[in-house]
Amino acid sequence: MHRSAGAAGGEVWIYGKFAPGYARTAYACFDQPDLKAEFTFQVTVPAQWTVLSNQPPAAAPEQAAGGNAVWRFTPTPRLPTFTTTVVAGDYHVVTSSHATPSGQRIPLELACQADLAGYLDAQAPALFEATARGLDLYTDLLGAYPYAKYGQVFVPAFSAGASEDVGCVLISDQFLFRSRVTAAADEFRMMVILHEMAHMWFGDLVTVRWWDDLWLSESFAEFCGHLATARVGGFPGAWSTFSVGRKAWGFAQDRLPSTHPVAADTATLSEAIANFDGISYAKGASVLRQLAAYVGEESFFSGIRAYIAGHAFANASRADLIAAVAANSGKSLGDWSQAWLRTAGFNTLHCEFQTDASGAFTEFAVVQDASASHPVLRPHRVAIGLYQRSGDVLTRTRLVEVDVTGPRTVVPELAGTTQPDLILPNDGDTGFVMVRFDPRSLRTVIESIGGLDDPLARAVGWNALIDMVQQAELPVPEFVAALAGGIRREPSVSVLQALLPQAEQIMRQLATPENAAAGKRLLADAAGQLLHSAEPASDLQLAWAQLLGWTATSADQLDLSAGLLSGDVAVPGLPVDTGLRWPLLQRLAAAGRVGDAVIGAELARDPTPAGQRHAAACRAAIPDAGHKEAAWQQLVDGRLGMEDLSVVARGFALPEQAGLLTPYPARYLGALREIWPTRSGHLRVLLGDLLFPYPAASQELLAQIDEFLAADPAEAGPDPSMVRVLTERRDTLRRALLSRALPGRRPDPPG
Ligand SMILES: [Zn+2]
Repeated sequence: MHRSAGAAGGEVWIYGKFAPGYARTAYACFDQPDLKAEFTFQVTVPAQWTVLSNQPPAAAPEQAAGGNAVWRFTPTPRLPTFTTTVVAGDYHVVTSSHATPSGQRIPLELACQADLAGYLDAQAPALFEATARGLDLYTDLLGAYPYAKYGQVFVPAFSAGASEDVGCVLISDQFLFRSRVTAAADEFRMMVILHEMAHMWFGDLVTVRWWDDLWLSESFAEFCGHLATARVGGFPGAWSTFSVGRKAWGFAQDRLPSTHPVAADTATLSEAIANFDGISYAKGASVLRQLAAYVGEESFFSGIRAYIAGHAFANASRADLIAAVAANSGKSLGDWSQAWLRTAGFNTLHCEFQTDASGAFTEFAVVQDASASHPVLRPHRVAIGLYQRSGDVLTRTRLVEVDVTGPRTVVPELAGTTQPDLILPNDGDTGFVMVRFDPRSLRTVIESIGGLDDPLARAVGWNALIDMVQQAELPVPEFVAALAGGIRREPSVSVLQALLPQAEQIMRQLATPENAAAGKRLLADAAGQLLHSAEPASDLQLAWAQLLGWTATSADQLDLSAGLLSGDVAVPGLPVDTGLRWPLLQRLAAAGRVGDAVIGAELARDPTPAGQRHAAACRAAIPDAGHKEAAWQQLVDGRLGMEDLSVVARGFALPEQAGLLTPYPARYLGALREIWPTRSGHLRVLLGDLLFPYPAASQELLAQIDEFLAADPAEAGPDPSMVRVLTERRDTLRRALLSRALPGRRPDPPG
């Protein structure tokens, strides 16, 4: 049970967040997914409180002794323990109802902490509309809504984005917008809403037998969330956003030594918690998307409906799902299931060709590689796009579909075709497969990726460049140069806002301090120009201001940030509200331009929990040893929630401040040992990443981690989830050291 209190201490907000195995910390139970039960909640609280739960109340609350009231809820149907919840405190509730096309009437509720009521009232019509559209689509695709009501509660200090409690979804209050946001944030919120709603069927109604089938919950919710966002959520480009953002997360996870099959072998709850990752969400969703295309969407969903009907209020496993889809499609899925669900790692495609004197292909083949640790080749149906460059426009001159099987697939129809400026394997991004370019194509992508019209083609290019920089095949400065050029021509703010956080992470983890500073200066230059040329009040204008927020480096750029904050610089159509003020201020703090007094004054303007979090991040960014030490203490002392930790850690570990972070590599392992026994599973995994002092980490930390991992496990007994975190950090650090040693710019390849 989580408890938050208002700044004055009078208001209290409590909620139960039990996924995936914490119900037993709140009440006595057998806390595993295949032991479902019916629950009847009876809650005694102070009389002025509001209580919500999975079911509606059976009657009005009854007054009880001592100024209390008793809330009795109707009994639930059979639920897994981790989807039960009780929410109690000073909450504000808005209700409505929706009738689906099949005539089912579903009561709806929205709630938030009472002091945010104004924001909820303003956003409730849009939120109810989104909910209604999602319910219409899902009841059509998946079957009747199985529960008594559908509630969504915005809760403070939540340890995840949202969680799928039956009929009472908990959503982080960061999704209750308090300042103007871009369409990208709106799109992401829509996806989260529709993801959680899909869990009512996948996870809640039909529950995994054990966590090795976590993908049956998360991959499906991720797949349905994006499908619904694109189809009914008002964001038809949701799959391109997915390709640049979530899918890149899947690739990043899949290249780590800890990678696992989508359907993983999971012995313990701690291993299950570690598997709430890019594989179970993004790779799994990509694979399901492919399965739907392979058997046809109609027979895919008729198989899914049979699976849901056959296991409603009970449990199921991978075999049940595959059998249901196979029976409804008439296709045997044994080989498919083995190749995509039961093996780890991804394949890389590149093109191999010879040309004659005129520059025409004499032979053209697609070559498939697999990593040495997961040497599995898979069948891929992909398109190869050929593009000609003219100025900065890339025009597709040819698109050939290829069934890639085995290590080398010859494409006879391309013989005789003139070698173009860009050959793009996996054009259209239909497969979960990485690509590499021939030298001429690579140069075209780096110089002109923004010239690709199709957002899915650009996504393939971006994911390849990100993978290359992650693998130390492309120097960070070269990646940043491609980015600074490409973003100027990116029309989708959602794609931008999926791409830019990855650039920030690449700089934090991989770049030298000099390259990080130079890279930020280059991006801030683009941001400053684009901010002034963007259409007033457009989403892109806000996105450029936000980019300036974390990149301003040179004196001119910092002057612009300071001017926006003070109001001395006004950009028509750009309100400098709370959401923008904090990042601008944090950058000034990082540059040493403002200190505690100015940060304190800003906190007085925004004395909310979010304001406190951002003020702490600003103080963490101040470039002196004392502020770094104070921030480190805050990160390890156990009082900050998940969102606070992420925000403060971003202020603490700035790559251009590597010199100030030199004491922390030596303290990392000790801090982790202290944290592990006392924090919840998700929190300690997060801390294992957030505390890792990438900017200052060197070969020495690598050696310390190796020594730690080599210790006799029977003696030291490190938790397997800690071993996993360390193995992942070690791998990223190893690649960072390789990347930092690369020459600044690779020589131009021969034309
Ligand atoms: Zn989920």
